[in-house]
Amino acid sequence: MLKTSEETLDPENWQDFRLQGHQMLDDMFDYLENLRARPVWQPIPDQVREVFHQPLPARPGDLREAHATFMRDVLPYAIGNAHPGFMGWVHGGGTPVGMLAEMLSAGLNANLGGREQIPVEVERQLVRWVRELFAFPETASGLFVTGTSMANLISVLVARTSVLGKGVRQAGLSSACRLTAYTSVSAHVSIAQAMDMAGIGTEALRKIPLNDQFQMDTAALEAAIAADKQAGMTPFLIAATAGTVDVGAIDPLASIADIAERCGLWFHVDGAYGALGMLAADIAPLLQGLARADSIAFDFHKWGQVPYDAGFVLVRDGALHYSTFASPAAYLQREARGMAAGSPWPCDFGPDLSRGFRALKTWFTLQVYGSQKLGRVISNTCALARYLRQRIESEAKLELLAPVALNIVCFRYRSSDRINADIVVAIQESGIAAPSTTTINGQLAIRAAIVNHRTKTCDIDALIDATLSFGADIERQAGQGTHE
Ligand SMILES: *Cc1c(COP(=O)(O)O)cnc(C)c1O
Repeated sequence: MLKTSEETLDPENWQDFRLQGHQMLDDMFDYLENLRARPVWQPIPDQVREVFHQPLPARPGDLREAHATFMRDVLPYAIGNAHPGFMGWVHGGGTPVGMLAEMLSAGLNANLGGREQIPVEVERQLVRWVRELFAFPETASGLFVTGTSMANLISVLVARTSVLGKGVRQAGLSSACRLTAYTSVSAHVSIAQAMDMAGIGTEALRKIPLNDQFQMDTAALEAAIAADKQAGMTPFLIAATAGTVDVGAIDPLASIADIAERCGLWFHVDGAYGALGMLAADIAPLLQGLARADSIAFDFHKWGQVPYDAGFVLVRDGALHYSTFASPAAYLQREARGMAAGSPWPCDFGPDLSRGFRALKTWFTLQVYGSQKLGRVISNTCALARYLRQRIESEAKLELLAPVALNIVCFRYRSSDRINADIVVAIQESGIAAPSTTTINGQLAIRAAIVNHRTKTCDIDALIDATLSFGADIERQAGQGTHE
């Protein structure tokens, strides 16, 4: 007789498991309810890091113990973007609703590559909502991806199909085609990476200078396109940014749309966090021209507050998007009925076959909070940025380094770059707040990106106070600056 086992990975005692599960849920509710009382971030002790250098466990461990390790050694040492004092880089805060939805999708363990299932229908619902939000036609396609980096890559590949035809997928790029693309010097690095991964190369990406509002200079853009045409290149793509990482500037989208139309170029918008400004009544008018894009890349996990990860790509010409990725395979045969129905499938619009149910946490977020409340959260992060600007302008020791277009504020303590970098590290290590740094016009900037729905004016005040007091301390220690 063949020997098989009755063993599965389900609990032997569901009652015990249930109790443990409820405890885990309660611990996360406690964490979210009392976040403000914790440090935003804290340095990782060596012995905590060592916990994760243990050899591969061969024998079963205890769930209760694994959870205790999580509570003791993982949870306190995360980067802290759920915390109201987190203002580094551009990170969303997540929500309790999103957390619960993640649990539901993990329980269901749906694979959203395709096939006849309502989870795919939920993703299609999201595609329809996104189309509606950005005033795109019904023929537009959309897809959840990890993040805007992947969405930018997909967009560059569709733009490549638009100029070279889908034969490029078989023939590859011949060195003769000499494509060129255009973005601003402040574009996210993922645009250049997309050019690299698409086989076109980063040297074919022209980085257009900025105007005094830190937006792409459209006169320089037109000149660069003309010069490349003159030189026998084939300009094919403009990648504008709605909400730059450094300062939150929005490129002049309507003028860029005009240029793209006039020159016959693909108009892509990297709206990683900024595009969802469409949800906010006071931000939407700043995004004029976005509705004319050929493709938009954005993240629900930033301003949309959906837990990581939830990126999205929207393409105006859904047929072109399909023809860029769809790949027939015997085991992916489609049928009119049965479980292999419902073609086209999400896997026909991107490089991933197996895909998680990112659509569910996004659906829950929109369903439970509604677009208006999410829009108010977005508006409020911008109002807090203006409040921060005011506080900076009223402090003699502080200096604003860039205009505040949206929710990002770049400033500095009037001292050296080294001291500003040290101030940021000191604030991070204090756990009071979490700004990051960038470079503006050659100067090191303290950068606060207010993305989190939990951030309030008291968090802004704490950032200012910490900057001033650490600044004074560090200057004193360094023996430079004004001695009182
Ligand atoms: C965050 C960001 C990206 C990258 O998005 P991921 O979701 O991290 O891949 C790209 N562009 C801009 C403007 C961003 O802010």
